[in-house]
Amino acid sequence: MKRKIAVLGVTGSIGRSTLDVITHGKEYFEPVLFSAHTNRSGLEEASRLWPGVAAVLSGEPGGKEKLLDAIARSGAGITLNGISGSAGLEPTMAAIETGSDIALANKETLVMAGNLVLKQADKKGVKIIPVDSEHSAIFNLLEAHGYDDLDEIILTASGGPFRNYTAEEMKNVTVKEALAHPTWNMGTKISIDSATMANKGLEIIEAVRLFGLPPEKIKVIIHPQSIVHSMIRMKDGSIYAQLSRPDMRLPIQKALYWQPKNAWGKINNTVFMANGFGRLDFDNLSLEFYKPDFEKFPLPALACEAVKKGGLYPCAYNAANEAAVTAFICGKIGFNDIGRITHNVLDCDWSEEPSDIASVMEADRKAGITAEKEI
Ligand code: MG
Repeated sequence: MKRKIAVLGVTGSIGRSTLDVITHGKEYFEPVLFSAHTNRSGLEEASRLWPGVAAVLSGEPGGKEKLLDAIARSGAGITLNGISGSAGLEPTMAAIETGSDIALANKETLVMAGNLVLKQADKKGVKIIPVDSEHSAIFNLLEAHGYDDLDEIILTASGGPFRNYTAEEMKNVTVKEALAHPTWNMGTKISIDSATMANKGLEIIEAVRLFGLPPEKIKVIIHPQSIVHSMIRMKDGSIYAQLSRPDMRLPIQKALYWQPKNAWGKINNTVFMANGFGRLDFDNLSLEFYKPDFEKFPLPALACEAVKKGGLYPCAYNAANEAAVTAFICGKIGFNDIGRITHNVLDCDWSEEPSDIASVMEADRKAGITAEKEI
């Protein structure tokens, strides 16, 4: 039987890669819902490729409610959330309520409200499978080697386009330069977040939530080639890594075809299903690793602090960064101001433990306003 799938953020970079994956797995998947924010022509194109699938444009007046309603009625067995930014949280929660498993590319869901989301997923028997390439690597490595003897997680980071710049040189970089990621081809927000390394900060918090380790046990190393997607170090010192070409279709495929271990084989070894994504060629391949400079890139260290403090600090980290990135894209602030603004917003008190998603959304709004004042 085909698995019903909802694809949220279908016109974005993750959404388009997902359509590619399910196009190659037509015998396994039946799309039941597509959503886009404002890209109407992209949504119409997806609907032409897959006629009869419900389609929602969430950026229209009343669109958010329409989307939440469509998720509630979709009947999806799995929901891929490729929405960008804090707008992804409520759709994730709506999908969890229906009992749909979640292939999660929207890291903000876990950063803003990780504890609430995981608790609800647990209650509903919903599996959250990470799509973020680093977390996909760790998730699959832990599936293979077990959690019991895990010592630490080693998150790799490309370092972005300004890896070798001085703080002085970064002051005047343009939006265009920040968007030119050396290895990955991604959406606007995440490309800027990679350039500031705020993305690695979000990923540290995401890893704390998903894998239950304290932030001290999550190391970040710079790996400019983006071939080693992350590693786990076991208690005996052995390290396991996942390597592949930088292509998001692989972690998406892994998430969509994931099965609990005891169900392996039930759908014909689809766990490592062959695909046409190209193979890693070892000829002339060199892999480098460096220690990150968190003085030059303050955002990952701020994220560590935020997740240690708990409460609404991670939510405030995300909201402040999101507001600052928008201001940078609009030319209102310089590149280095993104870290400064986020730092200043985190100086406020965000210690309250959120009791529900509404209070998280309220903190998100408040932290955005605090950031605006700094801008
Ligand atoms: Mg990532």
